Amino acid sequence: MFEPSTPITTLLSTLAATPAASEGMRAMLQRSSEFVNPLIAQLTGIALDPAGRELADHTLDHYWADEQRQQDTLNASLCDREVIIGSGYHAAVYAATRVQAGYPKPLVLERGQRVGGIFATTTRPVFYLNSPNRPGGPGLAGDLGANLNYLPGAPIQAANVSALEYPTNTDMAFVIRLALAQFAEVVPDTNVIAYDDGDGGGAALAIDSRPTLPAGRVIDARGMGDPDGGHLANGTTILTFTQFIQRMAGLWPLRGLRRVAVVGGGDAGKCVIESLLGIAPQPFMAAAALDHVDRIDWYDDALPTTCTVWQDEIRGRYQAIGRYLRDDRSGARRLTVKQRRAGVVDVPGMALIEGRGYDLVVLCTGSKEPFIQGLGGLGECDLYSVYGAGPVAQQYQGEPVFRVGPHARLPFSAQERNEGVADVPGNAVAMFRLGSKTAALAATLPPVIRA
Ligand SMILES: Cc1cc2nc3c(=O)[nH]c(=O)nc-3n(C[C@H](O)[C@H](O)[C@H](O)COP(=O)(O)OP(=O)(O)OC[C@H]3O[C@@H](n4cnc5c(N)ncnc54)[C@H](O)[C@@H]3O)c2cc1C
Repeated sequence: MFEPSTPITTLLSTLAATPAASEGMRAMLQRSSEFVNPLIAQLTGIALDPAGRELADHTLDHYWADEQRQQDTLNASLCDREVIIGSGYHAAVYAATRVQAGYPKPLVLERGQRVGGIFATTTRPVFYLNSPNRPGGPGLAGDLGANLNYLPGAPIQAANVSALEYPTNTDMAFVIRLALAQFAEVVPDTNVIAYDDGDGGGAALAIDSRPTLPAGRVIDARGMGDPDGGHLANGTTILTFTQFIQRMAGLWPLRGLRRVAVVGGGDAGKCVIESLLGIAPQPFMAAAALDHVDRIDWYDDALPTTCTVWQDEIRGRYQAIGRYLRDDRSGARRLTVKQRRAGVVDVPGMALIEGRGYDLVVLCTGSKEPFIQGLGGLGECDLYSVYGAGPVAQQYQGEPVFRVGPHARLPFSAQERNEGVADVPGNAVAMFRLGSKTAALAATLPPVIRA
């Protein structure tokens, strides 16, 4: 069992000194015999107590934001260091597995101010994940004994954090952040802009507004990327998915919105629809009389248009949306699927689609890779396989650089096709599919040899 790291120790002592935030931690210690050890019991108690979790999150943010610590961490980094780009789920999986396999803590560089990747975009919960929240170890969809949100090697799992049917984004973010706090050194606000192979003199990463950093190996965990269509978003009447969920985490997020359009029908589009219908987590106050979206038009060429077809074709997690595709008792219908692609035009005070005016249009039309000079597209990579696990990453040809997670775009294996995992396109990026691959990479890569 591991000793608590400095940020985890700081977190525990801060909580212990704040009685109003430590009730969950103290209560869970009464059940510590049911846990592997008291540290896991304490962290679980903190996660389950809203006041405890808020203070723990704040303590971690404060620790990671310390400029002197950031500089010291970067300055101490040598040419045998493993450096991870991005601080999401796959960074946490890699770091937790690597350290528990006996290797030094990797250095995690995050361009944003908040650590934790896509699920940590907001500090309060705004969307549900799409895989059920249940106990168990890793496994594929369809295995009812498996926890599909499992983070290999993490101190606590999503199933420790709530008893909801589906975890919220911030439940998963908390699990990721604790794993990074324990198993990595993390520097936020650090945007990697270029990779230099060093011509035999050792690899290096160029970072915006900071000195160049040597690296012995790079784990490129950039995630799904930046929103496509970001250039169309104006921040007011046209938003990307990320901008929309940030708005949902603020005060009165639906104020003044009567007619809204959503473009794109994937998981992100479905989460936006749930927020607009009031069936997603709502962190702040909303009053139906004031904050009610009357009409939602949803543009996507593949979505069902009727409640009956929706309930037949769409997976369980999103079933509730289907009921809004029919008239309510007063004969009104709030949600309409327009089965086609749509372009949006920005005009003063509103957005137009096909001549219809909307108070807000949310673009959920996919993502594109954040640019890093020297780390081009998949054409420069080869699949990297591990005996017993198959392809687990993409490696840049001749370079100590590995793409992991959704960013690696790993093809479905024959086994995944046979077991039906490939039948759901969204599974291509799912944690249950890719987490164990990143863990296999971390467990098996040889030590970095100092150049
Ligand atoms: C809205 C949404 C919901 C999802 N829901 C689910 C779900 O319910 N279940 C599921 O299994 N999967 C879900 N996914 C898929 C999800 O992306 C993965 O499962 C997982 O979160 C990806 O983790 P990651 O670490 O690869 O990427 P991310 O969590 O996206 O983290 C990548 C990080 O890299 C940082 N970064 C990028 N470029 C740079 C740079 N140049 N320098 C420094 N940092 C950089 C980003 O800021 C980001 O924080 C969802 C994806 C999205 C977009």
